[in-house]
This record gives sequence, C-alpha cells and structure tokens, in this order.
Amino acid sequence: MLTRAPKGTKDILPSESYSWQYVEEKIRQIARLYGYREIRTPIFEHTDLFVRSVGDTTDIVQKEMFTFEDKGKRSITLKPEGTAGVVRAYIEHSLYAEPQPIKVYYITPCFRHERPQAGRQRQFNQFGVEVFGGKEASLDAEIISLAVKLFDSLAIKGLKVNLNSIGCPDCRGPYHEKIKEYLGDNINSLCKSCSDRYEKNPLRILDCKEEGCKALIAGIPLILDNLCDECKDHFDQVKAFLDAKGIDYQINPLIVRGLDYYTKTVFEIISDSLGAQSTVCGGGRYDGLVEECGGPKTPGIGFAIGLERLMMILEAQKAIDIVEEPMDIYIATIGDMARLKASDLISVLRKKGISADMDHVGRSIKAQFKYAGKQGYKFVCTIGENELTTGDLRIKNMKEGKEDSIRIESLLDYLIKQLGGSSND
Ligand code: ATP
Ligand code: MG
Repeated sequence: MLTRAPKGTKDILPSESYSWQYVEEKIRQIARLYGYREIRTPIFEHTDLFVRSVGDTTDIVQKEMFTFEDKGKRSITLKPEGTAGVVRAYIEHSLYAEPQPIKVYYITPCFRHERPQAGRQRQFNQFGVEVFGGKEASLDAEIISLAVKLFDSLAIKGLKVNLNSIGCPDCRGPYHEKIKEYLGDNINSLCKSCSDRYEKNPLRILDCKEEGCKALIAGIPLILDNLCDECKDHFDQVKAFLDAKGIDYQINPLIVRGLDYYTKTVFEIISDSLGAQSTVCGGGRYDGLVEECGGPKTPGIGFAIGLERLMMILEAQKAIDIVEEPMDIYIATIGDMARLKASDLISVLRKKGISADMDHVGRSIKAQFKYAGKQGYKFVCTIGENELTTGDLRIKNMKEGKEDSIRIESLLDYLIKQLGGSSND
C-alpha cells in the first residue's frame, strides 16, 4: 500500500516529464498566439458548483466525483473538469464588467472516480480554453482551429473533428416533446439514468452508453433537424468559418456531449490511435451557464483536451522526436581540494546560465565519468591535484569525442563560446 500510488493515478517520472513540458510549452505558445491568457483556479470547489454547472443528469455528477466533507462540514469536490471553476471565477471577480470577450486557458489536473483503463485515469490532466462574452460563430470556429493547430504543431495525424448543434432552450423544448413522443411506451425499457434524463433533459438519452438505450434511440428524431432559425443560422456560420479556415470536419448529429448546459455548437475530436477511449478533445458552447451559476446572461464557449490521451497519441505515432536538452558540463574531481574548486566553478557557471554539476556521492573518477556519460552531459572535465597546481585543464566534448586543453580561469569563456551563446547574460 505505502509504495503503491492510489488506483487510477500515475507518476510522471523525470524520464517522461520532459515530453510533458514540451507539450505544455506548445500549448502556452499557441494559446498566446490566439489571444488567450492563463487562469488558475483551485483544485477543489464547493460540490454544488459542479452539480449546478456540469449538471445532475451527467455521469460526472451522478457517478464520478471525488466528494468529501471538510472539517467545517462543507461538501467539497475535487474538480472533475475545468469549466465550472473558471465560470465561478468569472462571476466572483466580475470579469463580465471588463471588455469582452474574456479568453482564458488552463492546464489542470482533474479527478473522476472511474474504472481505470487505457486513456482513463482517476487523476488526469486537461488543457482547456474558455471564452466569455462572445456570441459570434467566428469564436466557435476559432477554438476548434486552436485545438487543430495544437495537434498539427505536434505533427499528430488521423484526427477527425465531429461537429453538431444541440440548439438552445427555444428549439430544445419542442424537440424534447418529439423525443418523448418517439420513445412512447418504451420509456419503461430505458436504463435508470435515462429514466431520469427523460424527465430532466431527454436530449442526453442520446449520450447513453447502455446497449438497451442505444437500440431504442436508433431512429430517434435528430436535434439538427429541429433547430430554430437562429441556431440554424449560427450553425451555418460556424461551418462557413471552418470552411474558410480550411478545417476538415464531419457532422455527427448524435454528439450531445456530457454536460447539461451546452447550447448550439458541440464538437469532439477523435483519434484513430487511441482504441476505445478515442476522444481526445471535447467542447462546445454554453450560452446559459454563467447565468445558471448566478452571473449575468453571458455567452460562453470552450473545450478540453485530455493530455494523457494526447501523450498516448504522440507515443503511438512517434511523429516527433522529443529529446531532452542535455546538461552542459560535469566536473569530475579527485580529492577534497578539487571538490572545493569544482564547487566554486559550478556556482560561477550556473550564475551565467550554464548547467553544471559535480560528484556528490564520493565516486571513483572512473565511476564519475560513467555517470556523466549516462546523464548525457555535453562536456566533462577533470580537476585533480595536477590541475590545481598547473591551472591547466583538459575538457572533453562528449558528443564529438574531441578534447581541448584550456586554463581553469578560462573555463567559463570557453563554454560560452562552445555552447553558442547559451549564457543568459
Ligand atoms: P469519455 O467519453 O472518454 O468519458 P468525457 O465526455 O467524459 O469523455 P470530457 O468531460 O469531455 O470527457 O473531458 C474532455 C477530455 O478529457 C476527454 O475528451 C478526454 O480526452 C479527457 N478525459 C476525460 N475523462 C478522462 C479520464 N478519466 N482519464 C483521462 N482522460 C480523460
Ligand atoms: Mg467520461
């Protein structure tokens, strides 16, 4: 127990964290390119926020939340997704009073009590964007294009953008009646969750994974054929903006997404490299959500990308070679005086932005060289009694195998030159 991480969690070890940093850096660059700024919200929120914003007919709220009572007897939940906290922050800090739209992104851990399997963990990471205060279809297309741009920048292939519109409360009212009419007497055959959905949000029956329900909805009327004029026009415009951007997509009238408060555009990006958990990105418009959570009526839209699934695609496709930048220099030492000198030198080098290290475990000189080679240092030099007396140093370029003789006091200048101006000065 003590030496096992909790079920559904995973360590990201130093050998992998470099790839994560690489992807996160790409995310930050692209978010900035599109005018999005970072927001960081707490890992936990009041449970009610998720019940209200994610919706009580969803799997997340019904089955998957990590909820507990804190010492003040408040019900607290670890965030199962990123949107709710951002909506809360938008309202709490009156961001609606600032010039709109507000465009933000986040990279955050999320927590869902699910059965762990490939691409499904209990703690996982999402990159998400949210935009508030913009109702135009240009935004719907912009966020889809941002997601596609990220995947492109990582040379990811084999993705499909699936697009749908689930309308607004105006078109959904009459549509819900049509669903009820269509299901007729079959409502008794719906699963327990869907009986609940039938009452509260029948559209979500289309999202059911139960075989029985899937069979029942085989010929169900589609929301896409039942949109009001405004929603239909919005959807046409989203498609026109996507076409203008040259983004490939396909219409999938069965996508309704897991959250209750989506309106109009919904989309998913599916990968052919992921097996069963094939959705890497999900998003949509939520024009009713800010108001639902107690803020002013404000349109909103966003998406979330599952970063573990994104990393799995990178791993499966191996289209880019993410290699860690090796550290600059290792100073091998023989004797205590040499250790003092090396300690001095590495401080000077580090101050100038050159990564440097020395032995800290009392290894033999041979073992120090072996260690430095394994760690992939660019340069290795040795300081012993001889070097201390003469002030001369031999330094080896590990990649090229070539050695130079230099003076100890010119080590910094030598490295700055060799590393091609990697000094931060
Ligand atoms: P799924 O159908 O796979 O359960 P979802 O509809 O619950 O997905 P969203 O709430 O839309 O997922 O979350 C956005 C993205 O976060 C998903 O597309 C996926 O990439 C990722 N994700 C969701 N749940 C998990 C999980 N338990 N482990 C890892 N990644 C996840
Ligand atoms: Mg899920």
